[in-house]
Amino acid sequence: MSSPAVSRAEPPSPDLSSPVAPGSAAGAPSPLRHLPSVDAVLKEEAGLAAVARHGRQSTTAAVRAALDERRAALRAGAGGPAAPGEIAAAALARLDAAAAPSLKPVFNLTGTVLHTNLGRAVFAEAAVAAATRAMRSAVALEYDLDGGRRGERDDHVRDLICELTGAEDATLVNNNAAAVLLVLNTLALGKPAIVSRGELIEIGGAFRMPEIMRRAGAELAEVGTTNRTHPRDYREAIRPETGLILKVHTSNYRVEGFTAEVAPRDLAEIAHAQGVPLVNDLGSGTLADLSRYGLVHEPTVREAVAEGADLVTFSGDKLLGGPQAGFIVGRRDLVAKVNRNPMKRALRVDKVRLAAIEATLRLYRDPDSLTRHLPTLRFLTRTSADMSAQAGRLGPVLARVLGPDFTVAPEPCRSQIGSGALPLETLEGVGLAIRARDGSGGALSRLADSLRRLPVPIIGRIDAQALVLDLRCLEDEAAFIASVTTLEGAHELA
Ligand SMILES: *Cc1c(COP(=O)(O)O)cnc(C)c1O
Repeated sequence: MSSPAVSRAEPPSPDLSSPVAPGSAAGAPSPLRHLPSVDAVLKEEAGLAAVARHGRQSTTAAVRAALDERRAALRAGAGGPAAPGEIAAAALARLDAAAAPSLKPVFNLTGTVLHTNLGRAVFAEAAVAAATRAMRSAVALEYDLDGGRRGERDDHVRDLICELTGAEDATLVNNNAAAVLLVLNTLALGKPAIVSRGELIEIGGAFRMPEIMRRAGAELAEVGTTNRTHPRDYREAIRPETGLILKVHTSNYRVEGFTAEVAPRDLAEIAHAQGVPLVNDLGSGTLADLSRYGLVHEPTVREAVAEGADLVTFSGDKLLGGPQAGFIVGRRDLVAKVNRNPMKRALRVDKVRLAAIEATLRLYRDPDSLTRHLPTLRFLTRTSADMSAQAGRLGPVLARVLGPDFTVAPEPCRSQIGSGALPLETLEGVGLAIRARDGSGGALSRLADSLRRLPVPIIGRIDAQALVLDLRCLEDEAAFIASVTTLEGAHELA
């Protein structure tokens, strides 16, 4: 491919794509003559390997592109004629690079365990195995093996969800945003949906509660003020046509100071006195009491159900630690109504995720082993001692690889759960803090850039003149070492 600068340096040749370029117009012997033919390149070892790996069509195109590049360089007076093996190697490298997946595994060393931009929860091995099995085979997705009749996809998880939450019934959709949308559309289409002004939240990107409510066809009936909403605000807002009262767990921020909100239990009483359903959008929601693992208590789904919410919605890939999904649990008649909504079909989950969800939920039957089997909880409960020992093992490797221009030191750091759960509660952990010896931010940001370009990219966070690699989510040390050691000798980083 010739760059614009090259095209300007010389008028375009009538036959730029020919493997052997014609001699120059001036008639002088041209190095272009010595470029190998496409066929010669394809016969090279790297050429044969490229054809085997990427097919003849792509390889021929890549060889032509490599020849074009070389031709342009020669015209610009750079370099000499290339051997066929060299062109073949260039083409192979180009094809291999293009074949690398775009969605790459990375090391999440940001210190945010459930990082939305890094795919949130890492699956449990049992979920990986279940998803893989479901991918490889036909499954009894909507087929009742006992009766040989048609079944429902929710049948595979309904009992498990009810057992773990105390709810009467349950259904699953694509994510929690879909759960909220579907519930609102089912219960409040063309009707007022009452919500506190203190709970009209935005959850990253385009999920803004008022907009979702409008798009769901509900009429937004705001009550109270940003900092204080009282029982009477709800009572006075209820009309005969009210579709629902929505309680939103304001997971990603907290109003402090002169504040008042109506507790879910009181809100349920107010709603039920008027025959209006109460929907509690828990957001992260958790099926296990986190305080049992030494973490700060986050409202559990079981609590929300017990407090009288008629429907509770929550995410599959936040604290629950499974795949992206939205759970709708609660009253049987309301879940049935949700399932009759034609939009349900557009929002349902596929067999792969359903298999992963079922396997993840099963782990909750044994809360004692959850910290071993569920990566999210395993990361959240890692001890500083454990991370310190790891820092002791990895620090020297990293220091050697980065060379004399950087210092590497274990340091206490504070990680967070992420995805809006308990945003103000941080967890004490240990990271490796990398600093440029000359104190320059430029060297550090170039290093961060190099780490992002590794075969398995390493994503840390830059924090007060240091690049911190929070070790909380690092389990595969061998893979980490293999990835960083590819930087070895690259000391021009600084
Ligand atoms: C995260 C969150 C959502 C959206 O859930 P997704 O699973 O990301 O679609 C909705 N409501 C609340 C309160 C949340 O925290």
